[in-house]
Amino acid sequence: MSAAIAQVQPLNSARALRGPFDYALPSELSDGVQVGSLLVVPFGRREVLGVVVQLAEHSEIAKERLLAPVRALEAGVPRELVELAQWIAAQYCSTVPRALRLVLPPGLTRGQLSGRARRTRARRPEHVPVGVLRGAPPALTRPQSQALAQLTAALQADAPQPHLLHGVTGSGKTEIYLRLAAVALQRGRGTIVLVPEIALTAQIVARFLERFGDTVAVLHSRLTAPERREEWRRLRSGQAMVCIGPRSAVFAPIEHLGLIVLDEEHDASYKHEGNPRYDARDVAEQRALRCGALLLAGSATPRPESVMRMRRIALSRRVDGRPLPQVELLDMRGVGAALHPRSARALSQLREQGGKAIVLLNRRGWSNFLSCRACGHVWSCPNCDVTLVMHRSERAITCHHCDHRERVPSVCECGSSTLARHGAGTERLQHELSLALGDGSFPVLRLDADTAGEDAGRLLAAFERAPAGVLVGTQMVAKGHDFADVTLGLVLDADATLRFPDFRAEERTFSLIAQLAGRVGRGAEGQVLVQTITPQARSLRHAAAHDSDGFLAEELDRRRALSYPPFSHLTRIVCSAVEAERALAAAQALRRLLTPLREQASASVLGPASLFRLRGRERQALIVKAPERAPVVSAIDAAVQRVSADRSHGGVSFAVDVDPQ
Ligand code: ADP
Ligand code: ZN
Ligand code: ZN
Repeated sequence: MSAAIAQVQPLNSARALRGPFDYALPSELSDGVQVGSLLVVPFGRREVLGVVVQLAEHSEIAKERLLAPVRALEAGVPRELVELAQWIAAQYCSTVPRALRLVLPPGLTRGQLSGRARRTRARRPEHVPVGVLRGAPPALTRPQSQALAQLTAALQADAPQPHLLHGVTGSGKTEIYLRLAAVALQRGRGTIVLVPEIALTAQIVARFLERFGDTVAVLHSRLTAPERREEWRRLRSGQAMVCIGPRSAVFAPIEHLGLIVLDEEHDASYKHEGNPRYDARDVAEQRALRCGALLLAGSATPRPESVMRMRRIALSRRVDGRPLPQVELLDMRGVGAALHPRSARALSQLREQGGKAIVLLNRRGWSNFLSCRACGHVWSCPNCDVTLVMHRSERAITCHHCDHRERVPSVCECGSSTLARHGAGTERLQHELSLALGDGSFPVLRLDADTAGEDAGRLLAAFERAPAGVLVGTQMVAKGHDFADVTLGLVLDADATLRFPDFRAEERTFSLIAQLAGRVGRGAEGQVLVQTITPQARSLRHAAAHDSDGFLAEELDRRRALSYPPFSHLTRIVCSAVEAERALAAAQALRRLLTPLREQASASVLGPASLFRLRGRERQALIVKAPERAPVVSAIDAAVQRVSADRSHGGVSFAVDVDPQ
C-alpha cells in the first residue's frame, strides 16, 4: 500500500523552527514519492524545497488541515544519505536542513523550484591524463598481495571492520586501492575514493580513470555547474560506480557502496570549516558502517586516532626496493643566514650535477610583517589582531585571515621612511633561489596558495617535465606527488609547525617532514635536510629515523596521560561579538549551563579563553573534554540555544566545533 503522508524537512527552516512537517500526498504522487524525494511544498506564505525524511499512513494533524506538496522534482537523494544527514546534524551540533544540503544534487536553482528548469544535459568533463600513466596493471609485490588478500576478505564480510593501510611513501598503496575497487565492482558495488585536494592529486585521479574509464566520476571544484550535475546524475543512475573527489565526495549518491578509500587520511583538509563542521573521515566511517562497505584509510603517517581504532596492515618497503632517503637535522642555532652551509652546498651541487629539489617553507608571502625603524610601528590588520604579510608581486600587505589588503607603505605615519621587513616567506625564497641558481634550464618554481589558485596541476606538471630545477612551496609540496627524479628535500624553519599552540603540533610536524621525505629519492638516491633550532624535538628525531611506529607509540602515551583524543573527545564553542565584554559574558553564561556535565558526563570544561580578534569580532572559547561525545554535544546544543535566545546576549554568535582540528 502506498503512503498517504510525507514527512518533509524544508531546507530553509531556522534553528528555532524544526521540522519535519506533514504533508498529504495526492494519489498521483503517492506511488513515486520515497524517502529522499525532493518536493516543492507550501510553507507559510511561500513555496520551498523540502526533502522527504519519512513516509506514514496517518498524521496527528487533522486531514482537512494538511497541505499537499506542489510537485515533486525529478531526481531525489538515496534514503541512506538522508539518514546520514540526520546523523551529521546531531553529531556536529548543526541542523537537519543544513546537513541535508550537503547531500542534495548540485545546483538546485530557483528555476528548478519554480518548475522552469532547463533540462540541458552537460557533456562529461574531460579529464586530461597525466604523463605517470602506464599500460597494464603491474604484478603485485608479495607484501601488496598479502595486504590485498586481507582487505578482499574484509570487503566480502557482512559488516567489514575499518582498516588502516599504513604504508611508507611509495609502497604501492594506490595500486591496492585500484585492485580493491575492482573487487567491489565485480560484486556490483561502488567505490568512493576521497583525496585531500584534486589539484594536488592528479596522479591518483589519472590512474583511476585509466583503469576504470567511464565508470569513474570525478568531482572537483573546477567543474562547471552543469558538469557537476551531470557527474551527480551518472552516479545516481548507476552509470558511474566509482567516485573520486575531495571531502564532499563522501556524499556521492552511489546506491550500492562496497568501499570507501580515504587516501592520505592524516590530511587536515578532510575537516570542513563551514556549518556543519563535519569531518569527512568520520562521515566516511559512519557511511561505510551503515551500508556495509569497507572503510580503508591509507597513509604513511596515519593519525594516532586511526592507529588506535582501526585494523592496521603495514607496508614497510617501497615497491621499487629503494631505501627511504637519509634525513639529517641541521642545527640552526647560531647560523646567521637563511640557509645552513650544508643546505647551500647541497643546492649548488644539485645545480652543477643536475637533479631536482623540493624546498619546503610553511609560510607564504615575501615578509611576515613590516615595522618602522624609527618609531616601532608594526603594520597590522584593522579587523584582526594579526600582522599584515607582505606580498611583493601584488605590491600589497595582506591579512591572511580576512580580505583586508593595503598598498605596501613607503613611509610611516611618523614620517620615517626606513621600514624593516621581517622574516621570509616562499615568495622571497623563490626570488632568492632563482637569483642564485635559476635559469631557463633550471627553473625555480613555487607552489603555494598564491600561485596554485586553480592551476596547481599545471605547475606540478611543469616541475615534472623540467630536466632539473627546484620546487619551492608551503605544505602543498609535501602532498602525495610521485616524481621520479627528486634527489634533494630541504625544510626551512621546521619549527614553524611545532610552535603552534595545539596538541596536534607534534603530529603535524612529524607528518610534514615524513611526507616531504616521501617525495624524495623515488628514482635515484636522495637526501633530506631539515633546518631547525630544536633538533632534539621528538617529532623531528622520529621523522629523521623514519620511525613512524616509535612516534605513534610515544604520541599515544602522551595523549593517554593528558586525556587528549583519541582518549577523549573535544568540543569547542566560540562566542564572538564586536564588543569583548559581550563575548565574555556569553561564554561565562554557557560555562555555567555546562557545569553539570562534569558530573553527568565526567567532562571538564575549560575556559573561557580569549582568541585573537578575527574579522572585527572579539572571541572567547570554551573547550569541553569528555570521554563520550554524544551527551556533550546534546548538552551544548541545548545550552547554546538557551543563551542565544536570551536577549541580554544579543549580538553574540556561537560556533560549535565537534572534534576541532
Ligand atoms: P604510495 O601510494 O604508497 O605512495 P604508489 O601507489 O604511488 O605508492 O606507488 C609508487 C609507484 O610504484 C607508482 O609509480 C606505482 O605505479 C608503482 N607501483 C605500485 N605497485 C607496483 C608494483 N607492484 N610493481 C611495480 N610498480 C608499482
Ligand atoms: Zn614610524
Ligand atoms: Zn584581517
